[in-house]
Amino acid sequence: MPELPEVESVRRNLMDSVLGCRIESVRVVRADYLRHQALPVSQLAGRKLCSIDRHGKRLFWYFAPAACMTTHLGMSGRITLLPSSEIILAHTHLIISVEGSIHLHFSDPRRFGGIWLYASGEDAVRAHIHGRMGVDALNLRPEDLSSWRRKKTRLKPELLNQKTIAGLGNIYIDEALWMARLHPLQKVSRLSSGSRAELVCCIKRVLNASLRHGGTTLRDYRDAKANRGTFARRLAVYGKAGKPCRRCGEALRGLLVMQRSTVICPKCQSRKNQGAKAQ
Ligand SMILES: [Zn+2]
Repeated sequence: MPELPEVESVRRNLMDSVLGCRIESVRVVRADYLRHQALPVSQLAGRKLCSIDRHGKRLFWYFAPAACMTTHLGMSGRITLLPSSEIILAHTHLIISVEGSIHLHFSDPRRFGGIWLYASGEDAVRAHIHGRMGVDALNLRPEDLSSWRRKKTRLKPELLNQKTIAGLGNIYIDEALWMARLHPLQKVSRLSSGSRAELVCCIKRVLNASLRHGGTTLRDYRDAKANRGTFARRLAVYGKAGKPCRRCGEALRGLLVMQRSTVICPKCQSRKNQGAKAQ
């Protein structure tokens, strides 16, 4: 947390508010949150923000003259648009002021996130995407999963692996597996091509539905305009162990997969059904 829909919601806020703006100044509050500086972050001053792309849970900020900043929100990171740089909220590590009295405050109490600076977009992409992240979950196609026929992994661990698909985490994996009626410990090699295609469809449906509601706020998450995401009330299984399945009425069950709390419907997501289906 935050996962793809939350990071994409922040990106859209930023594109609305600061795209095309010139950076006026950069204030570093906590230097060790800057994980890499191929150029000093102060040198962003005077550059223009040309675009912000997202891949998985990372944002890539492109500037002119050439420079690229990569940000990752980790577990508790926030980027907040504020009208002042004077009020420093708790756990703020960096403030970027842009023309028009807009100030971007980067905060992260748990500090699992970070900020990286590169001289070019190519350098940033090479460092963060190539060999490290698979296809972005919103661009996923069934053929991206064709190698699953030869893999020995199980579904949820494979979906959590950012090298396979970038952007998914615990919440949306549980939701997508429930929607696709697949058990999280099913071997990926046992899925038929039809089941893989259905899973791809369910992943994108869940992510797009969450995006329409500004993402999911469980506790901390806020978008860049400090709004909560309202998708939590629409979750089917995540955090709902013991409650009835909204599809069949069976009590939802909690289990641990790779130390992650996981919730399934034992009836809709029975592994028995899936063995028969897969060929
Ligand atoms: Zn069910």
